Amino acid sequence: MRAEVLRLTDDVISSGIFHGGPRVQELERVAGRLWGGHPVGASSGTMALETACRALGIGAGDEVIVPALTFVSTGFAPARTGAVPVVVDIDPRTRTLCADAVRAAITPRTKAVIPVHMYGQCADMDALDAIAGRHGLAVIEDCAQAAGATHHARAAGTLGDIGCFSMWAGKNLGGLSDAGLLIARDSDMVPLLRQLVDLGRYGDRHVHHVPGHRGRLGELDAAVITHQLSLLPQWIEQRRAIADHYNTAFTGLPLQTPTDAPGRPHTYYKYWITLPTVVEARRLADRLAEAQITVERIYPVLPHQQPAFSHLPHRVDSAEHALDLTARTVCLPIAPELTQEEIDHVIHTVLACH
Ligand SMILES: *Cc1c(COP(=O)(O)O)cnc(C)c1O
Repeated sequence: MRAEVLRLTDDVISSGIFHGGPRVQELERVAGRLWGGHPVGASSGTMALETACRALGIGAGDEVIVPALTFVSTGFAPARTGAVPVVVDIDPRTRTLCADAVRAAITPRTKAVIPVHMYGQCADMDALDAIAGRHGLAVIEDCAQAAGATHHARAAGTLGDIGCFSMWAGKNLGGLSDAGLLIARDSDMVPLLRQLVDLGRYGDRHVHHVPGHRGRLGELDAAVITHQLSLLPQWIEQRRAIADHYNTAFTGLPLQTPTDAPGRPHTYYKYWITLPTVVEARRLADRLAEAQITVERIYPVLPHQQPAFSHLPHRVDSAEHALDLTARTVCLPIAPELTQEEIDHVIHTVLACH
């Protein structure tokens, strides 16, 4: 994309408009057309999540249910509003929020639930929506790993009250640095979201309605991400094709790999494999590293285990599967630009370990 990115950079510099201009508007328009809802640019996925919590009125005295297996920002977002993140376990097969664990964690203080579409596969939104409907909970989707994913043909980010995307450079849809997007189901929410990410401003730049964040999206990132949006379906197909190679090669081995859940096709931000024991997982990670293959552990330390949470009010209701699985799981490379030779090298290295 180098040539196109350089061209877009030149355009932005020539325009002299770096924030709040036509390229951010274009990204919001295109995302709304492709996915639905009412998109608002933000500076990161973290900013989008915190903004969503604030916009939905979450604060002190509230509890917000989050999955044990996620990036730390999912827990930080409610915590920073003064609410209590309540950590619950994941479904061991899909690695997304377990509906039964959510049900068990609900109290009169529960205000919202944040399903994470982990590794690129949507959480079980039918079950979670039913629970949210029955208990009057808001639903904030954490779509940071799932741009372009679908749930029974509806786009991730349009299934709850607000969808939150990260478009950090390392994500499936990622600009040049940090970037994010909110998608509101209700258009009435848009003015407040815009105020919260732009120091309280909406319209007149000299009027600040609320103490908002410096959390807006830049024009250059917006331009690059809009370009990438047209390539995303093809990238997802390439990721799925690599996953098919891995799945076929690993059939019969004593390891667990991701699969499509009904109506929830995987978009493979990450391709994880879970080994029978921690020792075997460590050994495989070492062998892959020796073979110059980038291995990742997503995530070696869960949010509630982080030092930050020793000072933050939170509750852990259940996390057994998340703790066990994350210790036995490694992620293999699955970038769309991998060559067949590189894919075969990964496969041979994994097979040689068995
Ligand atoms: C990346 C990520 C975030 C945070 O997004 P940033 O753009 O890095 O701030 C939040 N939640 C999940 C699940 C993520 O993977």
